[in-house]
Amino acid sequence: MKWTANKITYEFDESACSCGLGLCAEACGQGVLEFNEERNVMEVVNTVQCIFCLQCEEVCPEFAISIDGALTLNDVIGLGDVAGQPK
Ligand code: SF4
Ligand code: SF4
Repeated sequence: MKWTANKITYEFDESACSCGLGLCAEACGQGVLEFNEERNVMEVVNTVQCIFCLQCEEVCPEFAISIDGALTLNDVIGLGDVAGQPK
């Protein structure tokens, strides 16, 4: 599944989601991600709340969450400025 926040596209690869712990959901302070204990996978439940903080991508040990491959981290930070976010 893919979702976009502040011009950044996130992609979640459910087939790679195998930590069984929901680390990403714990790291997400926005309620975008939920760990489904019955299915043992993370689910993307509320994309409009995503603030593109990248925490979910950073904590995932299975690389199941990725940002658009054409962007570097510097691009991401720069796009935050373009989007008018105060520093
Ligand atoms: S941290 Fe990664 S592997 Fe673990 S639940 Fe989240 S997406 Fe799945
Ligand atoms: S980028 Fe941040 S706000 Fe968006 S889903 Fe990941 S942890 Fe949550």
